[in-house]
Amino acid sequence: MTAELIDGKAIAAKLRETIAGAVGLMKTDNDVQPTLVVVLVGEDPASQVYVRNKGIATEKAGMRSIEHRLPEDAGEVQVIELVRRLNADDEVDGILVQLPLPDHIDSSRVINEIDPIKDVDGLTEVNAGRLILGKEGLVPCTPQGSIIMAKTVRESLSGLHAVVVGRSILVGKPLAMLLLNENCTVTMAHSRTKNLASVCRSADILCAAVGRPRMIEGGWLKEGATVIDVGINRIEENGKKRLVGDVDFEAAKLRAGAITPVPGGVGPMTIACLLRNTVIAAARRRGLAVPAI
Ligand code: NDP
Repeated sequence: MTAELIDGKAIAAKLRETIAGAVGLMKTDNDVQPTLVVVLVGEDPASQVYVRNKGIATEKAGMRSIEHRLPEDAGEVQVIELVRRLNADDEVDGILVQLPLPDHIDSSRVINEIDPIKDVDGLTEVNAGRLILGKEGLVPCTPQGSIIMAKTVRESLSGLHAVVVGRSILVGKPLAMLLLNENCTVTMAHSRTKNLASVCRSADILCAAVGRPRMIEGGWLKEGATVIDVGINRIEENGKKRLVGDVDFEAAKLRAGAITPVPGGVGPMTIACLLRNTVIAAARRRGLAVPAI
């Protein structure tokens, strides 16, 4: 058996097209152009690339992108003051504080200053609580992208056994909640889980968000399982630098029913879901109907 490839690039491109269409309608019908503000503190090279890519994608979707850069030695109070200014700015629909922040800044304090209605990363305690309570909020982008991808190959997720390996606040926990909201039976696995291989073997949907290259072996999968590989690991192999997931892709595709590649899987969906959240935030904040995106 060779698994169906869940092509994150193609799915994300389609989603971005739909978002651009919705943005176009917001402009013509309501004279609204959603605005996303990204706050970057310091000079971390990877963060600079992410922020640039987010800005380009935002503008391509027809939205306004604004970048605020603060120096590495900016104080926590300075960052919080900026966030408060953006909260109060009626032109701003979405606020994203690029993580990680420098060590001297308490990320949790800064993130929780973001007005939940503008929290397009879905990381404030208010939005995390709303997700658990099944209330309307903004959902973290990577988990949302993972669900959208799983749904492209499964008509319904209801009743399926989903195993999420990894329990971070950013990915594992919200992903498990979203799967639960889809009526999956959810198992959360982590570094203390016993018999991880056999837990994984019971999964109809296996989501890996660990950060360990190719940790999930082909033999750990149920025949026909849907595999969502969130992991992005930089390795050097045969003298070449490359990106690999948490799942051993070559072995897994022989057993899985469908699988996301790395790169080109969950990664592109994350930015597409950020754009989606920005449109949703803009519509809700302005009392407009939320477009079906
Ligand atoms: P974290 O380091 O915050 O969490 C990793 C989780 O994996 C922890 O819950 C940890 O368990 C668990 N874990 C570690 N080792 C093992 C093990 N041997 N067996 C089982 N579980 C284990 O990582 P993130 O959630 O932030 O990210 C996970 C991966 O996803 C990374 O590769 C990251 O780069 C990638 N990522 C990709 C994104 C995308 O856009 N595609 C976005 C965000 C992340 P414990 O809690 O017990 O320590």
